[in-house]
Amino acid sequence: MRGRDYVAEPKPLPPGGGRSVTPDELTDRRARLEREFAELQFDLGGLAYEMAIRDHWRVDLLVRHAARLQTVDAELGGLERLARIDEGGAAGTCPNCDALYPRGAAFCSQCAHPLMR
Ligand SMILES: [Zn+2]
Repeated sequence: MRGRDYVAEPKPLPPGGGRSVTPDELTDRRARLEREFAELQFDLGGLAYEMAIRDHWRVDLLVRHAARLQTVDAELGGLERLARIDEGGAAGTCPNCDALYPRGAAFCSQCAHPLMR
């Protein structure tokens, strides 16, 4: 009952699956993402400002920036959820995509990689 048959595995599992993550690492990762989010938001604002004063809109650029912001925001949301679930306890990282997962998760929520050993 491992569910391996449902997922095509491009890479073999490293021995022992994903590494475990300490509460400190979780906090660091969150702080880094929060910084990244703030920077991206600042850049997006600056970009919009530059376009506004030149009255030259590159909507594709704005959309690309917003998409990156959204990705970071989603990752941050996932981390916060994880911190609540686990209260800084034993979480791990997916051996396939490095996303964090809570203890007892059977599959990675990002790439559906099986996590049970
Ligand atoms: Zn994954």
